[in-house]
Amino acid sequence: MSELRAPKGTQDVLPPESGRWEEVISRFGSAAHRAGFGLVIDPLFEDVEVFRRGVGGASETVTREMYEFDDRAGRRLALRPEGTASVVRAFVQHRPPLPWKAYYVTPAFRYEQPQAGRYRQHHQLGVEALGTEDPALDVEVIALLAELYASLELRAVELRVNSMGDAACRPGYNAALSDYLAAHETLLCGEHRERWRANPLRVLDCKQDRCRSVRDAAPRISEAWCDPCREHRTAVVEGLKALGCDYVADDFLVRGLDYYRRTTFEFRSLALASAQDAIGGGGRYDGLVQSLGGPAIGGVGFAAGIERILLACDAEGVLPACSERVQVFVVDITAGAAVAPVLLRDLRRAGISADRAYDSRSLKAQLKLADRSGAQLALIVGDQEAEDGSVLLRRLRSRQDDDLDSQQVVAQSLVVAAVRRAVTPR
Ligand code: AMP
Repeated sequence: MSELRAPKGTQDVLPPESGRWEEVISRFGSAAHRAGFGLVIDPLFEDVEVFRRGVGGASETVTREMYEFDDRAGRRLALRPEGTASVVRAFVQHRPPLPWKAYYVTPAFRYEQPQAGRYRQHHQLGVEALGTEDPALDVEVIALLAELYASLELRAVELRVNSMGDAACRPGYNAALSDYLAAHETLLCGEHRERWRANPLRVLDCKQDRCRSVRDAAPRISEAWCDPCREHRTAVVEGLKALGCDYVADDFLVRGLDYYRRTTFEFRSLALASAQDAIGGGGRYDGLVQSLGGPAIGGVGFAAGIERILLACDAEGVLPACSERVQVFVVDITAGAAVAPVLLRDLRRAGISADRAYDSRSLKAQLKLADRSGAQLALIVGDQEAEDGSVLLRRLRSRQDDDLDSQQVVAQSLVVAAVRRAVTPR
C-alpha cells in the first residue's frame, strides 16, 4: 500500500511549531477583541455564488483557483478561497446592528502552484467592519494589524497605502490608464499584452520587469482622485501619522478585487523575497454587501496570512518555537497512592501546565520523560512522600533569579504556591 501523505500544497503543523501558531492567533484574537471586534465562525464551504459574486468575476485569479465541487444533492459548492465573502454573506443573512465589527481565523483554499510561502491551504487572520464610511475606521483597522506585527517583534515591516478612488473618479482614471496601455501594449509582458483590457489595473500589480517599466511612466491614480476621495485619503494618512504608524504612499498598490474603493493597504516583510513578502493587506470595499443581497453599505477589513507571518518571524529570528511543552512534570513512583492525579488537578486549576508519565514506569524512565517535556520542575512523589504528605521539587532547568535550591521538600498542601514561585510564567 502506498504511504498516505498530506495533499500537495498543504502541511501538518505539529508541536512545538504549532505553539507559534497558538501565539499568533491568540495575540490577534485578543487584540481584535480589545478593539471591539467579535469572533465570527462561518462555514468553510459555501454556495459557489458567494465567492463568484463576492470575490469577483470568473476572470479573477482567486475564483479561477477555487476548489469547487458538487455535493451529493448536486449543489455547487466551493471551499472558501478567502474570508471576506463569507463574513459578508453571514451579515446579509443575519443583519446584526451597524456598524458591525467581526474578526475571523480561517483556512483558505486556492489551487495554486505550491512554492515557498504559497500553499493550497493557507490560514488567514482577518477583520471586517461594515456600515461606516468613517476614515477613522480605516486607520483603526490598519493600526490593529501594525500592532500585531509589532507585538510579535517584527521590525522589517513596510506599510504601503493607496486610494483606489471611487465611482466618481475611478472610471476617468481607468480610461486614462487604458489609453496609456493601448499606446504601450507591445512593451507589456506576454500575459498582459493579451489580457490587459479585461482589467487594466492588474498591470500595475504585475511583477514582470516589462510591465514594471511601462508602469513607471503610467498615469497616477493620485492625480485623478476626486475631492471626497482626496479628503478621505488625507484623513487616513493623518490618522496614521497621529498614531506614529509609518507608511509609504504607493500609487500602484491595487489589490485584486474589483470591490476595493478608496483605501487599500498592504504590509510587506522586507526580510522575505518579493514573491512571498505580502504578510497582510486589505482596504475599503463598496458594492460587496449589495452584490450578496444586502443593503448599500461599505466596509473595511484586512486579511493576513499566518504562514507568511511566521516566515517573516523566522527571517527576523523572532518568536522561536518553545521547547517547553509543560511547566511541571509529576513523577509518581508510589505503589498506587493517588497523589499524582490530585497534584495535577490542583496545579492545572491554578493555571500551571503539568503532565505526568503513565504505565508505572521506573524513576529513571519518568525523569527522562520529564526532561523531554521541557518542564522547568519535576515534582517527585515516592512512597515516603506519600506517607508523610510531602513532595520533592527538583529543578530541571536553571533560572537566573533562582531562589529554589536544586531540590527541596515541600508539604503537599503548599505545593501549588511553591511551584508558582519557582516557574517562569507562560
Ligand atoms: P489575499 O486574500 O490574496 O490578499 O491574501 C491575504 C494574505 O494571505 C496575503 O497577504 C498573504 O499573507 C496570505 N496568502 C495569500 N495567498 C496565500 C497562499 N497561497 N499561501 C500562503 N499565504 C497566502
